[in-house]
Amino acid sequence: LFARESTFVKGVVAMSGLPPADRIEVCFAGRSNVGKSTLINALTGTKALARASNTPGRTQEINYFNQGPDLYLVDLPGYGYANAPLPVVEKWQRLLKQYLSGRPTLRRAFVLIDARHGVKDVDDQILRLLDTSAVTFQCVLTKVDKVKAKDMENTLKQVRAALAKHPAAYPEIVLTSSEKGDGIETLRGIIAGLS
Ligand code: GDP
Repeated sequence: LFARESTFVKGVVAMSGLPPADRIEVCFAGRSNVGKSTLINALTGTKALARASNTPGRTQEINYFNQGPDLYLVDLPGYGYANAPLPVVEKWQRLLKQYLSGRPTLRRAFVLIDARHGVKDVDDQILRLLDTSAVTFQCVLTKVDKVKAKDMENTLKQVRAALAKHPAAYPEIVLTSSEKGDGIETLRGIIAGLS
């Protein structure tokens, strides 16, 4: 069962800051503005939780949340900021690489993709990193309320084609709208099934 209580644990800037690997965890990745904070808030049923990770200074941290006593939700820094200075980008890529390949309790990465845009090159970089790190990832489409049914078919086609190139991809795509609540219970069920 997906536990009902969530609390912020800490923001991490280096591998040495990770909490003990004493329970399983799932992580969330996505381009900035994809709707990651909103989705985490919808999942956990708390309004303010992931706002912490969107405040200036927190955006480059790996943010840990307790989801009940047995699970961590891990909010990875948003990527693809247009104006991020190169040293910042490189620092976070290094940390991300270390995290993905060095966290034995990480069960699955959820990669958020805006349903209006599909998989972009900057997403594909992360997907390749997940392949080489051998972390199973699952694609979550966000903001489906903004897309008409016939456009959705095209998005799904594009996303399926993109995923076919990635050995670490889990084939089922989850369609969500944090606004309308679509797919949230499904995603909770998927996460609960991993624990
Ligand atoms: P983050 O940068 O990935 O954490 O993105 P946010 O969660 O801050 O969301 C970015 C913007 O998209 C905000 O204006 C949200 O209100 C909006 N948004 C997020 N999820 C949805 C959704 O499911 N539907 C719609 N229509 N808008 C959304």
